[in-house]
Amino acid sequence: MPLADVETLQAIEPKTKGANARDVKIVLGTDELPRAWYNILPDLPAPFPPYLHPGTKEPIPPQAFEPLFPKELIRQEMSPNRLEPIPEELREAYLRLGRPTPLYRATRLEAFLRTPAKIYYKREDLSPVGSHKPNTALAQAYFAAKEGVETLATETGAGQWGSALALATNYFGLHAKIFMVRVSYDQKPYRKHMMRLFGADVVPSPSDRTSIGKKFLAQDPDHPGSLGIAISEAIETAVTSPNTRYSLGSVLNHVLMHQTIIGLETQAQFELGDIEPDFMVGSVGGGSNFGGFTYPMIGERIHGRSDTRFVAVEPTSVPSMTQGRYEYDFGDTGEMTPLVKMHTLGHTFVPPRIHAGGLRYHGTAATLSVLLDAGLVEPRAVDQVSTFQAGEIFAKTEGLIPAPETCHAIRGAIDLALDAKAKNEERVIAFNYSGHGLLDMEGYAAYLAGTLQDNGHAT
Ligand SMILES: *Cc1c(COP(=O)(O)O)cnc(C)c1O
Repeated sequence: MPLADVETLQAIEPKTKGANARDVKIVLGTDELPRAWYNILPDLPAPFPPYLHPGTKEPIPPQAFEPLFPKELIRQEMSPNRLEPIPEELREAYLRLGRPTPLYRATRLEAFLRTPAKIYYKREDLSPVGSHKPNTALAQAYFAAKEGVETLATETGAGQWGSALALATNYFGLHAKIFMVRVSYDQKPYRKHMMRLFGADVVPSPSDRTSIGKKFLAQDPDHPGSLGIAISEAIETAVTSPNTRYSLGSVLNHVLMHQTIIGLETQAQFELGDIEPDFMVGSVGGGSNFGGFTYPMIGERIHGRSDTRFVAVEPTSVPSMTQGRYEYDFGDTGEMTPLVKMHTLGHTFVPPRIHAGGLRYHGTAATLSVLLDAGLVEPRAVDQVSTFQAGEIFAKTEGLIPAPETCHAIRGAIDLALDAKAKNEERVIAFNYSGHGLLDMEGYAAYLAGTLQDNGHAT
C-alpha cells in the first residue's frame, strides 16, 4: 500500500473547522474511572492452557508461584471472575497519575491521508513515564505492599518497564531492584536517571549481584547483556532475598487484566461519542497494551454484541504472531520460567536490535495466543522503516512524536485507512497510542539521516 506523499503535508485542510468538539477529544470525568478490571479468562473461546512444569510436563499448582509473586496476583492470574474490583487506594493512584486518559480523533491525519475513514487514538503516553506500563506497575506494587512485601525485583531493556515500576514502588513505599541490560544502561542513560530519581536500585546486567550474572561476567567482563539474562537475575534475586518478589511488565494474565482499564475507559468514550469502531488496533510486544485496549471489546464480540475486528501489529523482524509456532515454550532465554503455550519464535531466538525495544520478545501472551488461534485477533507484521515513516506523518499531522513501538500501531491504522480509501468505505478505526517517543530520538535521528534499516539499528 503506497503512503501518501509526506511532502504534501503542508497542504492539510483541517476538517475540524466548526466541527463538533467531540470530533476532537473525548474526556471522562474523575467519577468515570472504572471500578473493576475485565478478566477475559472466563470468556475465552477455548480453555486456557495451563502453565506446565518443564521437567514433569504437569500443570503447576498456584502455590508453586508463591516464592515469585504476591499471593493476590497469583489469585488474579487464574481468576474465574469476569470482573475484578480495583481497590479505592489504587483508583486514587490512577487518578493522580493521569487517568482517565482522553480519546482523540485524528482529523488532521485523516485529512492528510484523504481517507473517508475516521481514526481515533487513546492517549496512554500521558502517564508520568510516558507509556501504559504504570497501569499494571501501580497495581502490582499496591498488592505487594498490602502483603508486606518490601522489595520488587525486575528486569528492563531500554527502561520503559523499569521506570514504570520505579514510579509505582516509590508511590507505595517499596524498594525496587532493577536489572537493566548493560548496553542500554550504557547507551540510553535517561530512563536510568528517572528510575534513580524514584529511588530505585538500578544495576547493569549481567551483574556481580547474582550467581547467574557472575557466570556471564566470568565469560566476558564486558558482556553486553540481554533481556533473557536480566530476567534470570531478577528471578534469582526474588527467590533468594528476604521479602522480595519478582515483577513482570507484560505477558501474564494479571498484567493484561490490569491494562484493561485502557479498554474500559475507551468503551465509555465510544459510548459518549456515539462511536462504533470497525477496527481496534495495537502494537504487540508481549501483548499488554494491545490486550488492555481490546479485551473488553473482544468480550463483547465473543458474546455477539459487537462486530469489531481486532488487528495486532508486530515488527517483521520479530514475527512471533505471523510466523511463530503455537506450542509450549519457555518464557525466558535462561529456561527458569514454566512452559507457556503461546505463539513463539523459540526461546533461543535473538531479536534484531530494532529501535522498538519493547517489541523484542520471542513469544506472545498466552491469552492473546488463544484469541489468535481462534481467529478473533488478526496479526499483521510491518517493517521498521515504514513504522518510522508513520511516526513522522503522525508528528506532522497530529503534533505528537510517538514511541517506536507505538509507530507500529499507527502504521497498522494508516494501512487500514488507506484500504478504506481504496474501497471508498466509511470505516471507523481506533488505535492505542501506547507511549511517546521523546526518549527514543536516536531512532528518529537514524530515520532522518536515511541510515535506518528495515530490520536493525543503523550501521
Ligand atoms: C513496552 C511497550 C510496548 C510493548 O509491550 P506490550 O506488553 O506488548 O504492550 C508498546 N508500546 C510502548 C510505548 C511500550 O513501552
